[in-house]
Amino acid sequence: MDAHTATPGVAAALRPPRWLLPALAVAIGYYVAARLGMAFTLHPHPISTLWPPNALLLAALLLTAGRDWWWLLLAALPGHIAAELQSGVPTVMVLGWYASNCSEALIGASLLRVFVRGVPRLDSLRDTGILLLTAALAAPVFSTFIDAALVRLIGWGTSTYWDLVSTRLFSNALAALMVVPLILAWAAWLAAGPAKMRGARYAEAAALFSGLLAVCLLAFAMPHSDAHTAPAVFYAPLPFLLWAAVRFGPLGVVSALPAMAVATIWGTVHGLGPFTTETPQDTAREMQLFLITASVPLLLLAVALAERSRIERESRSQLTHLSRVAMLGELSGGIAHELNQPLTAILANAQAAQHFLANKPGERAILSEILQDIILADKRAGDVIDRLRAMFKRGETRTEALDPNRLVRDVMSLAHGDMTTRGIEVVPRLAASLPEIRGDRIQLQQVILNLIVNAADAMSMCAPNDRVLTVHTLATKGRVHINVIDRGPGFTVASEILFEAFYTTKPQGLGLGLSISKSIVSAHGGRLRAVTRKGGGAAFLITLPALARRP
Ligand code: ADP
Repeated sequence: MDAHTATPGVAAALRPPRWLLPALAVAIGYYVAARLGMAFTLHPHPISTLWPPNALLLAALLLTAGRDWWWLLLAALPGHIAAELQSGVPTVMVLGWYASNCSEALIGASLLRVFVRGVPRLDSLRDTGILLLTAALAAPVFSTFIDAALVRLIGWGTSTYWDLVSTRLFSNALAALMVVPLILAWAAWLAAGPAKMRGARYAEAAALFSGLLAVCLLAFAMPHSDAHTAPAVFYAPLPFLLWAAVRFGPLGVVSALPAMAVATIWGTVHGLGPFTTETPQDTAREMQLFLITASVPLLLLAVALAERSRIERESRSQLTHLSRVAMLGELSGGIAHELNQPLTAILANAQAAQHFLANKPGERAILSEILQDIILADKRAGDVIDRLRAMFKRGETRTEALDPNRLVRDVMSLAHGDMTTRGIEVVPRLAASLPEIRGDRIQLQQVILNLIVNAADAMSMCAPNDRVLTVHTLATKGRVHINVIDRGPGFTVASEILFEAFYTTKPQGLGLGLSISKSIVSAHGGRLRAVTRKGGGAAFLITLPALARRP
């Protein structure tokens, strides 16, 4: 075996099995979560006020395929044993709790899978509602019945069955509410490739979280001598939670809520804050109910806002696509004409080749030249079809570094047939060297195409000699400009009106092209303006931020 064939085999052998990292993460995560849960115990009350390991396990199951669940549950066992044995609990009880903890994760994840395909999305009210009903309600309720029954069967402790049920239920429901959405939201954020955030955004997040922690510590973790707590104290974190919901969406809220919960629980287990009643059970219950009732509406609010903006985004993208397809429909005559040219050339060349084969079969050089022409004509037709197919497709926004001149040339070649049939002369005045821009190729091509078609429409009544359309590219400091200039009548209304949706002066017009073009350019950090020119005609000016690189 030589070195080349040996290397991949060795690499494969050295590569850790795919389950190893997730299993390790679950084992360690479960252990840390269990220790945290123990630290959140209200003494001498024996049950934790927030028990996160089960919720962590549930989230891990939701992120994996059903066939992998068994080894994830198994991976939690060492973490569970390591955490529980330190607390001096008999082994049978430790194993009993492992079974009931796993049952909670399994019940939650299986129920959720019945109603939601794949990982539940926190920008969907339906998914989030089902997540709350299954993971934060049904799973803790059903597993608590099992857990309390096991504890009574084994005979551990002195609490009655219903005492056990009520104490475990709230701590597990609260944990599911805090931990499951937190893990799902961060996993989705990481999977989407962490969005680049500007410095100001990080500063805002830091201000939000430090403000929230400070307010929560002041409200819920300071000595309280007064038996009566002003109701305003409970609302103190609300402005920060609303800030998180409105500015940072579900990810902000699912991160802010655990911060509030930890500060509140920490205060309560240290005998601080407003949650002090006669018995530890009642204290724990009051605090848990406060955290649960504060969290659910805020989470739903953030999800509702995220869902609305997702739906808006989707319909804008649908509309953009529809308007592009409508524009391509208008160009179809010209495109057919454009395709006809290479096809005619191919036919003529093929006939010429037949002729040479019949009459002068020895002329190999001429035949090879003819074949070369056929190849070139075929490539030309293929290019037009490729460009057209890309424009027709409806896809996600894909940003990349683009050469502005190439964008213009591609659009010009797509519109070439239409311009020729309308008798319009297109004059490209492209800067010799331009910096690149960053953006979605298809969307920016759509903008330029729309401006070219509008300019051609505007010149339809002009004398043939005046039907001149100039596309001009240039760079100024940090900016790239693409200007589409025509010799039509210009416009008499204020230029902003042209960009309003449904404003059209054409009998068959939709009045959407310019408004969509403007929002595409704005989404690229640029501007689209319209001006009437002194000598007659209109100019549409695109300005986009330039990248440092040149193509
Ligand atoms: P549509 O082309 O369907 O009318 P647009 O949003 O693309 O929709 O254009 C809106 C209106 O702006 C046009 O109907 C026309 O009145 C005006 N307009 C656009 N481009 C030009 C131009 N180059 N010259 C004069 N008017 C224009």
